[in-house]
Amino acid sequence: MSSAVQSKKVRPKPYLQPEYCKGCGRCIAACPVHAIEKTGEVNPDTGYIPVSVNLELCTACGMCIESCPEPYGLHPDDVRYHWELQEPEGPTASQAAGRPAPKEVPAVRIPLPPTEPLMIKGTYASAIGALLAGCRHFFGYPITPSTEGAELMAKVLPHLGGAFMQAVSEVATVNHIYGCGGAGKPCMTFTSSPGFSLMLEGISYMIGAEVPGVFVNIMRGGPGLGNIAPEQSDIKLACRGLGHGNTHAITLAPADPQEMLDLTMLAFELSFKYRQPVMVFGDGYLGQMTGKVCLPDHMVQPGIPDWAVYGDAEHRGNLIASIQLSEKDLEEFNIYLNARYQEMVENEQRSDLFRCEDVEVLLVAANTPARMAKGAIRTLREKGIKAGLFRPITFWPFPIKSLLPLVSKVRRIVVVEASPGHLEDEMRLALSHAGVEKLPEIRNVQRYGGILPQSEEIAEAILGMEVMA
Ligand code: SF4
Ligand code: SF4
Repeated sequence: MSSAVQSKKVRPKPYLQPEYCKGCGRCIAACPVHAIEKTGEVNPDTGYIPVSVNLELCTACGMCIESCPEPYGLHPDDVRYHWELQEPEGPTASQAAGRPAPKEVPAVRIPLPPTEPLMIKGTYASAIGALLAGCRHFFGYPITPSTEGAELMAKVLPHLGGAFMQAVSEVATVNHIYGCGGAGKPCMTFTSSPGFSLMLEGISYMIGAEVPGVFVNIMRGGPGLGNIAPEQSDIKLACRGLGHGNTHAITLAPADPQEMLDLTMLAFELSFKYRQPVMVFGDGYLGQMTGKVCLPDHMVQPGIPDWAVYGDAEHRGNLIASIQLSEKDLEEFNIYLNARYQEMVENEQRSDLFRCEDVEVLLVAANTPARMAKGAIRTLREKGIKAGLFRPITFWPFPIKSLLPLVSKVRRIVVVEASPGHLEDEMRLALSHAGVEKLPEIRNVQRYGGILPQSEEIAEAILGMEVMA
């Protein structure tokens, strides 16, 4: 073909697919005749603000097509694509010009008949709790000692119309949960300490975007890869380091397989109540421990929250994001978050007491170490020491309200934990915030590296403290 013929070829004007435009504005900057501008309206199918092209001004220079990073954003109009956006059920975006307001489809409690108790391990109990709470979406990356929970979900979910996805990493996992939770769907992961560390950035995003999701962390020995034996290595992470920014999340601390089920179910309820991720922290022993588990008297059929970014007519116009570029808006959002945190502190503290009616020596322990502490209390009582147990069931918020009446009664507190003082630090901080000036003596029994404090050594250590006193 001669160059003369080539020069007569009509250059195409750009063709815009608003559904694929992310509104990045590169084409606006590239256009020499200012033929492109932002529409200023959120596209209900994507949540983005696309541009529009004034083809009358357009000189068909092609610069915008070159500048567009989206393969289907802008392209020459003589190119025929054979793809279409799948329209979700319900009216299309244009049909929905008079779209109904987002509405709440409430969750439904479905009564269950009584059944025989099961003998199952903690991770299975937690998975069953999630299923009964209506969770049908699981994302995760296998990591010992949490893997059996994921394994059970992989077997069961396809038969319940659900989805199990083994993510490429823990970073991917938390972002899958972000997306699924943003659609208003109850979803979860099982992980263990090194994996949980990797999820923290995403958890901060979820808190910033007000997205629910449940994280079951079966804690193991650290730091680093550590080992696969039980530790309470992540209490500090949950209470003082849950991702960047102003982050807190309810963190539940089961102590037996029954509580693994009950508290996992509760985690889903709280997660949707507060639009926040919720943590369930067991230790590696608890994850593997087999015990008697009674099923609850109901299960939950999830609804669709009014805020969900869901593909039906009522919800498709919703938008979820964790970005607030205006300093003023972000400060207001933080004030709003603080109020919500305060509501959780007021309403969600949970704890359990054992032999505290006449307590003088108060053991404080959670997860499996609390079971060991109970054994030690029986030994100590046989030797005439009035010992009792205060067991936090929430690491955050720390259950200070039920600890305070005991603090003035006891002469000694002994914190028993499989960590280098994470629980003791939380307790001391809560006592300090509560303004307690006169503290009893505070001592501890700590083991690390995957070794749990045993009943005998706890009793011996406390007997030693009593002799020294
Ligand atoms: S083809 Fe050129 S003139 Fe036309 S909208 Fe794109 S950049 Fe502007
Ligand atoms: S460059 Fe592409 S994605 Fe960006 S605003 Fe323009 S059309 Fe949209």
